[in-house]
Amino acid sequence: MNQAAPQSSHVVAKFGGTSVADFEAMNRSADVVLGNPDVRLVVLSASAGVTNLLVALAAGSESEQRSYQLDEIRRIQYAILDRLDNPSVVREEIDRMLENIAMLSEAAALATSTALTDELVSHGELMSTLLFVEILRQRQAQAEWFDVRKVMHTDDHFGRATPDGAVLKELAQTLLQPRLQASLVVTQGFIGSEAKGRTTTLGRGGSDYTAALLGEALNLSRVDIWTDVPGIYTTDPRVVPAAKRIDKIAFEEAAEMATFGAKVLHPATLLPAVRSDIPVFVGSSKDPAAGGTLVCNTTENPPLFRALALRRKQTLLTLHSLNMLHARGFLAEVFSILARHDISVDLITTSEVSIALTMDTTGTTSSGRSLLTTALLTELSSLCRVEVEEDLALIALIGNKLSRACGVGKEVFGVMDPFNIRMICYGASNYNLCFLVPGADAEQVVRTLHHNLFE
Ligand code: ADP
Ligand code: ASP
Ligand code: MG
Repeated sequence: MNQAAPQSSHVVAKFGGTSVADFEAMNRSADVVLGNPDVRLVVLSASAGVTNLLVALAAGSESEQRSYQLDEIRRIQYAILDRLDNPSVVREEIDRMLENIAMLSEAAALATSTALTDELVSHGELMSTLLFVEILRQRQAQAEWFDVRKVMHTDDHFGRATPDGAVLKELAQTLLQPRLQASLVVTQGFIGSEAKGRTTTLGRGGSDYTAALLGEALNLSRVDIWTDVPGIYTTDPRVVPAAKRIDKIAFEEAAEMATFGAKVLHPATLLPAVRSDIPVFVGSSKDPAAGGTLVCNTTENPPLFRALALRRKQTLLTLHSLNMLHARGFLAEVFSILARHDISVDLITTSEVSIALTMDTTGTTSSGRSLLTTALLTELSSLCRVEVEEDLALIALIGNKLSRACGVGKEVFGVMDPFNIRMICYGASNYNLCFLVPGADAEQVVRTLHHNLFE
């Protein structure tokens, strides 16, 4: 673990889509930035709704739908632009971006590609950051717009690119660090650039990850994630209104939550934070006074049951083959096929003649393409009988020393009688117990479990 001590008290503040959705939201986020002199670097998502519209355009819309989608993007951004004291400063650039979007979406309607998708989608973050700089300036703050692609170099895995941490560190230290001394710097989450200079993205929700990576590269003292909930809860408060806020949580527990679907943090966000021991704070930009959750290197009385996470749209693959009986190397063969198709396995259970597995959807591609391709199914089918079950939901109970405690099974499964459990994974990790249920039952299962274990 690289426990480089923070060089400064500087903080990076990241604001998600709803926190920059409109003029009021941007001003509330500006209040948060200006209320803490330690915030020097600001990372933004696109204004709420814009990324989804851009993804739809990139998928190649019909002309009528396309013009509606373009109008919507323009409406969202102009609603902010028109309320600036001095809109002319950024109007030209916003107009240029809107023209670019129109041109690229025409190209996408003819032939779409993952590179084109990333190029199109990046305009959301480019526009929100331009507008936010102007909001800060009209409030007398010294603020500078910075193109994160200059420092966030990635591989060319469009849609879920992997950043190069060493290059980021070097470039951020030379290009960004000196700027932070002089003014507030506002930059884009989610986007990067590959070796040929083409734009890439880090997967949906990737702005959290950008903020954590920049926090690490610049040795900042904290990463603040400002969203629409005042912290990390025992489960998604939209699903269970009785969910309780967790005031302080260990990196490992929060990372498990993010991995297993707690949307409040992108799954990779905590990797740099753990690596460099940088605390992450999660709070609501709508209500900063409500406080939030601190994710840090803590071990104070970790509870047996910490939280419930829910990940929808899971696909279960069951592979049957009589050849598996007493055979050696079958699993290796299956895994090598999956690896060739760039799929990492998430959950797995095996029996004498079958394997059941789900696919890791961490860092789901920006275009939302399914990982299960015909080529993969054909190759697997040459080896064994393949069954595919879709629309399942993965429920993860996150906790501590789960596989060492007695009675966990009874407490959890004792209340699961009314539900069909398709698969259970327990024992490999001390921090989680996972199972699959039909998608339609997912919320009821979470509510039932939450009621029994947390309320
Ligand atoms: P942003 O656009 O700010 O990145 P997201 O929509 O990605 O915000 O994440 C915030 C949402 O995460 C919340 O509105 C909430 O519904 C959801 N969420 C899921 N699990 C949790 C949890 N355990 N605690 C808090 N929020 C959660
Ligand atoms: N705007 C991107 C998305 O909607 C990235 C983010 O918000 O973090 O996925
Ligand atoms: Mg998010």
